[in-house]
Amino acid sequence: MTLTPSRAAELEAALAAVRTRIAAGAREAGRSADEVTLVVVTKTYPASDVELLARLGVRDVAENRDQEASGKAEALARADLAWHFVGQLQTNKARSVARYAACVHSVDRPSLVAALSRARAELGGPPLRCLLQVSLDGDPRRGGVEPKDLPALAEEVAAAPALALGGVMAVAPLGQDPRRAFEVLPALSATVRSVDPAAGWISAGMSSDLEAALAWGATHLRVGSAILGRRPTVQ
Ligand SMILES: *Cc1c(COP(=O)(O)O)cnc(C)c1O
Repeated sequence: MTLTPSRAAELEAALAAVRTRIAAGAREAGRSADEVTLVVVTKTYPASDVELLARLGVRDVAENRDQEASGKAEALARADLAWHFVGQLQTNKARSVARYAACVHSVDRPSLVAALSRARAELGGPPLRCLLQVSLDGDPRRGGVEPKDLPALAEEVAAAPALALGGVMAVAPLGQDPRRAFEVLPALSATVRSVDPAAGWISAGMSSDLEAALAWGATHLRVGSAILGRRPTVQ
């Protein structure tokens, strides 16, 4: 693994700039930045970048494809890194993800709940934290449970022995004002917290809309390109 000093400096500066944005966004929202976790989305970037980020103090990293994620998690094997899975997840990949992930942000259907719980129970380890991805635009291609089905899905996760209900996750619909789209987050979070009061995570906000997410209570921001650079391909 080659770790170049120039890339380290680049990542350090970008990370500092994002942390400054988070501090300002939290202040603007009347919140403390201490209650916000930055999850760095490292998809398409090499394991060496993840290693550099870890050396810069990043503890939470995210990927959206199992094959890429499992390879990096294995290559690094850093016990101080928590791997988050944020992409649409096929049920037949649940077992692989349950091996390295600390948290899955994209749980959106009962079959996935069952598969993740079975896999984690067999593999052992602490309960796998599951966030329920909620569809904000009703477009099934982008994943996410419909808000009306959220309470039942939350009950399923809460009842699954090897899973821990963590909260909600959302992606702002393309072409919509994220400040409008994220307005529903507090109510969706309240729905999940009525099932388990500890399930208070709200995963929302990316490079372009983290301020809007902070305004609506996001506790976990998933930021990729603002830190690692623009990805060469559409993800
Ligand atoms: C890629 C990705 C992100 C990060 O997006 P950026 O615009 O690069 O910050 C966040 N969430 C999910 C689900 C993603 O797939």
